Amino acid sequence: LLRGELEGEELEQHVRDSVITTTLDKATKWAQGNSIFPLTFGLACCSIEMMSLVGARMDISRFGGEAMRGTPRQSDLIILAGRVSMKMAPVVRRVYDQMLEPKYAIAMGACSSSMGVFNNYAIVPADKFMPVDVHIPGCPPRPEAVMYGILKLRKMIQDDPTMGWRDRYKAHGTEELPPAEDGARA
Ligand code: SF4
Repeated sequence: LLRGELEGEELEQHVRDSVITTTLDKATKWAQGNSIFPLTFGLACCSIEMMSLVGARMDISRFGGEAMRGTPRQSDLIILAGRVSMKMAPVVRRVYDQMLEPKYAIAMGACSSSMGVFNNYAIVPADKFMPVDVHIPGCPPRPEAVMYGILKLRKMIQDDPTMGWRDRYKAHGTEELPPAEDGARA
């Protein structure tokens, strides 16, 4: 359409149909939610299921999350795929600390959330030494469940920041990352 061709109600309707307005904040969050960079990080058997995310059936690239990175400095999501041993917890926490903000964490599977079948002195749940945004139940969770967890995280990034750990800690009067507990120091 040439400029000046439309007037009055027609022009208003044309603008409603063809112009999108938003805020920079919303546009940034939309982009962040659709360009998650997960860290390549497997801890145990759950990581085998995590790998299926990039396969043809699940194809996480549909949601912009297929670019897994081998360094925390290029990642904004760590998926704790498997049980965390007391020995490994400080390493995981250090890797998490090395990621740049905004950053997110998913505890995948029963072990990393609640120690699962290994419920013994050598294993520690992720919540004890770092903040976790989304927990995915299962042993191991099916790839569909992992995808659901990632979509939950995407929703959190884009629409509902109250879903994450930051709000939970704010409720206790601090926005700071909780310190690592004994045995899991960074
Ligand atoms: Fe392995 Fe099950 Fe634990 Fe995942 S939740 S690490 S599959 S034992």
